Amino acid sequence: MRAAKESKRSRRSRFLRDAMVDVQIASRGIRSRRVLLAMRQVPREFFLDRRFAEAAYEDCAVPIPKGQTISQPYIVARMLETAAIAKSDRVLEIGAGSGYLAALAAKLGQEVCALERHEALVQRARSRLRHLGSRNVDLRQGDGTAGWPDGGEFDVILVSAASAQTPTVLKAQLAPSGRLLIPLGDPGGVQWLTKLTRRPTGHLVEEKLEEVRFVPLVSGRELRNDL
Ligand code: SAH
Repeated sequence: MRAAKESKRSRRSRFLRDAMVDVQIASRGIRSRRVLLAMRQVPREFFLDRRFAEAAYEDCAVPIPKGQTISQPYIVARMLETAAIAKSDRVLEIGAGSGYLAALAAKLGQEVCALERHEALVQRARSRLRHLGSRNVDLRQGDGTAGWPDGGEFDVILVSAASAQTPTVLKAQLAPSGRLLIPLGDPGGVQWLTKLTRRPTGHLVEEKLEEVRFVPLVSGRELRNDL
């Protein structure tokens, strides 16, 4: 009985996920087959608290604890497609929140390192990622504006929170030919989703993609008073 009930629920979830991908993502021009497939596979409702689960496949950001949000599905898809994550890529996410974007990136790349400043969110996201079998994610509590604590370079850096500028340490951790995506602008208002690409010469090229609204990337100094 229980198994039959669960499979009905998971059929419904798959149906809603497919509709989300078709209506909100593919129809708006996202073409990457790997990104579309990953989004059909990862259950977004699983990363939300039960009271918000019904909103999982709506075309908007949804609240998660600590006053944060899980980004709108289309924006998640846009970031992933633009980042062009290859199977061998090492990915860093700053602001892992619910863990949803990290779960998707884990399907696309080889290894995902992720930082989230709120320990409560880290605990939840970790257990959800474990449950889904995302074994290639190293999620830690920490300040993303200080970069990945073990150092090293990343082929892709995804910043899931808004900042006036790109933190210098993150630029330094971007590998040759690496891509960094970050919402740049007024952290309390509208920002531009921006892509930085490291050319073989070492030079960074900046490209503005579209207007977005993300929660603020809290810097080291503010962080201490804020938790
Ligand atoms: N990609 C996430 C979206 C999370 S919202 C998801 O799929 O759910 C952005 C997150 O950035 C918030 O959880 C917030 O706590 C976190 N954040 C803000 N400033 C940070 C910082 N300096 N270091 C690490 N995380 C930060």
